[in-house]
Amino acid sequence: MADKTEIQMHYSAQMNSHPHMGTVLSLMTAFALGERLASRFKVPVTLKFEVLENAPREKVEANGLVYTKMLSDTYVDGVPISEIHLRSFIRLLEALKERSGISYQLLTYRQFQELPFVRKTLLDILNREEEFRPIISPSEDHLRVRFPCRQCGFAEKSGETTIIKERSGEYHLVLENECFQHGKQQIVLAPDNKDFVDMNTPLRNVIKEALFIEEAKSRKALDLMIDGGDWVAMADFVVSEGLSRLGYSYVDRPARIFTPIIEDWSGAKFSKSVYVQQGTYDYLPGGFLNLIEFEREFGQVGLDKLWNDVVSWVSDPKKLFRNYSAEYLLQVLRS
Ligand SMILES: [Zn+2]
Repeated sequence: MADKTEIQMHYSAQMNSHPHMGTVLSLMTAFALGERLASRFKVPVTLKFEVLENAPREKVEANGLVYTKMLSDTYVDGVPISEIHLRSFIRLLEALKERSGISYQLLTYRQFQELPFVRKTLLDILNREEEFRPIISPSEDHLRVRFPCRQCGFAEKSGETTIIKERSGEYHLVLENECFQHGKQQIVLAPDNKDFVDMNTPLRNVIKEALFIEEAKSRKALDLMIDGGDWVAMADFVVSEGLSRLGYSYVDRPARIFTPIIEDWSGAKFSKSVYVQQGTYDYLPGGFLNLIEFEREFGQVGLDKLWNDVVSWVSDPKKLFRNYSAEYLLQVLRS
């Protein structure tokens, strides 16, 4: 912190459901940590919340390939699914801002991919594809770059059919892929245009951290990534290797804190999909799955109880660098 004048925290979430207990606690940890760091270092702390509305939702198989449609292109009663879930996230973010005094900003994936730096870095990586492929897509012979069909919104998920159709100079590519229903489609990828381009998580994370490093340098900010504890394996190797090939040193990397994982009785990560499919957590309240349900069952008082507990986590490493069971949380809520 010696030469830093602010702290910029980062948190990202796919908009594939309303926040569940794991996400609520992870975000709470971020805000509580922000509050603590602000009072410890006497600098402004803000949280950038990256909205991943591009996560896949609908899925079809055709010609032996998987095609997916993004959450933002899948509608319920005329509203994109990503938007429905984002509204719950914003309610949670507002509640946590109020409790911590830490402000937040949203960055959607669409806004992210439109940034000239992001597009230029993606072009750099595509221009050196052979060098990046073994790190980012070790089991495939291509990088996962894709874009949705203009007519139906489906994109070929693995990027296997995406080709570089034309190259005019280093920073202007025409990419082409093929929709199973509507044939060949093209987009232009250049730093200053806005044709929508999607990429898979490892690729996005390398470019994202490069962006954060650049932004932090220009503002003398300390970058602090907050992720759920289950991201430990992925975050480090792939992103470190990718960044070093883009010319960033290890010392430039954002600081990173992993939040406690919420576990079920068996020690497995508390998972919404397991809950729904097997009904294995019947003894837990439905509010563990869904913020809307949580608010109905436990109200603001429940949120306060969790918040107070999380505030105690960030003041003691023994309580922060560990996991918590769903049963423990149930006790906190019933106390
Ligand atoms: Zn199509």
